Amino acid sequence: AFGQAGGGKKGGTDDAAAVTPRAEDFSAWYASVISSGDLAENSPVKGCMVIKPHGYAVWELMRDDLDASIKASGAKNAYFPLLIPQSFLSREAAHVDGFAKECAIVTHHRLRAVPGEDGAAATVEVDPDAALEEPLIIRPTSETMIWSMFSKWIQSHRDLPLAINQWANVVRWEMRTRPFLRTTEFLWQEGHTAHTTAAEARARASQMIDVYAETAERLLAIPVTVGAKSPRERFAGAEETLTIEAVMPNGWALQAGTSHYLGTAFADAFDVTYQDEAGERQPVYASSWGVSTRLMGALIMTHSDDTGLALPPAVAPVQVVVVVIATKSPEAAAVVSPFVSEVASRLRAAGVRVEVDERSHLRPGARYYEWERKGVPLRLEVGPRDAAARTVLAARRVGADRAKFGMEVGDAFEAAITAELAATQQAMLDDARARTAERIFEVDTYAEMEAALASGDPARVGLFRVAWKCDEANELAVKEACKATIRCYPRDGQEAAAGRRCFYSGEPATHIALFGRAF
Ligand code: AMP
Repeated sequence: AFGQAGGGKKGGTDDAAAVTPRAEDFSAWYASVISSGDLAENSPVKGCMVIKPHGYAVWELMRDDLDASIKASGAKNAYFPLLIPQSFLSREAAHVDGFAKECAIVTHHRLRAVPGEDGAAATVEVDPDAALEEPLIIRPTSETMIWSMFSKWIQSHRDLPLAINQWANVVRWEMRTRPFLRTTEFLWQEGHTAHTTAAEARARASQMIDVYAETAERLLAIPVTVGAKSPRERFAGAEETLTIEAVMPNGWALQAGTSHYLGTAFADAFDVTYQDEAGERQPVYASSWGVSTRLMGALIMTHSDDTGLALPPAVAPVQVVVVVIATKSPEAAAVVSPFVSEVASRLRAAGVRVEVDERSHLRPGARYYEWERKGVPLRLEVGPRDAAARTVLAARRVGADRAKFGMEVGDAFEAAITAELAATQQAMLDDARARTAERIFEVDTYAEMEAALASGDPARVGLFRVAWKCDEANELAVKEACKATIRCYPRDGQEAAAGRRCFYSGEPATHIALFGRAF
């Protein structure tokens, strides 16, 4: 399903523009929203995508906002190498177990030319004489590299706490890929912290999952549930994994960000200790946390519709497009041009991201549709009569009221546009919250969940909130029977488990769990 165009055919601009109705085929809809929104494209390498300028601009807005929050949390940015000595990975047993299956390995450092036979062009092959002494792993995550450096940076209690973040690409050799959601190479940030106490490291992991939850809701208008992963679903090497889980319009869950408490596993593996005030060597406790370009996938699926991409204003590279509808007459252009310039420059000065579309070779309808597919929240149409009257005709990308409405370009214009964008941001979050609430089902028995998942009725698929006795064998049995996994033990409402029986085994419940099918 990687990057198939909506029409199923490759190439022509018409195919790229077509959006497959969501109800018809969810995967094809998602792929077509991406291609018609000009966000990303398949690359020649399977599982790796090209993020196009419009998609990358959305990512940059997310990244910059989150970067500010990460810095405000006390972490500093740094950069570590892409290549990790193979031996590092085996230092932490659980970690290597988790990542060994999906590693890309660099074994050679040179190619050599092979002359073509019978006049054929020369080719290249791996030079067998250029094998590396120790193979290098392309980082799937950087705990090992960073803790090998922490062993130099951490000596005394004065060096702690230490909080480092990096923005980087990582590679995980995924077998089944989907644009943004699960790619072989992806972009992310990874934070790594070191502490003198377990409690402080746990608190850091918890602080960061809250930062992610806040960012998802405020910036991306994506409602999430904060919770802890079951032991089976934890990060390889973590003692606890916290997650934010979102539910997508097909009822499947998406893990949108994770934050781990790592105990002393990595410190032990890389011989990191610190000297306390009494001069004693003490263990060092760790957290790590990350979000990736998967957030783009969550954003796209949460808000888009059968027209195509819809973006919340906070992450829309173009928040307002001014579409100029000039007649061919020079007199009309003379009125429209200065007015459009004034509208655009006033909005830019007010901090609004504006683009002016003056293209005359395309009909207005085609241009409206193009900006809609790119997710632009607000369109302003300006023709000669509007310019003369100092008004614009506004149209919203989303919302119950899509009727065009007039706006005066008077003293209150900038404030009215800013208020309109803020209202859109809030409305998109409210709508997403309402849709999420409809997708969370309280069930008492496993049979109810199984029936809902097997029903083929998309309205019955979602997150199932149940009483559960933590048990890995039963968890696996449920997954094999109906593909549902524990998305998390939600942080809120765990007290409700007391006195209840597990919906699967009937034993006394230990947790409230959210089960669901996941991307
Ligand atoms: P992890 O290090 O496994 O906890 O993952 C950190 C973040 O990266 C989480 O938000 C995951 O959802 C995300 N992530 C993991 N694997 C991929 C992938 N193949 N493509 C995109 N994002 C991913």
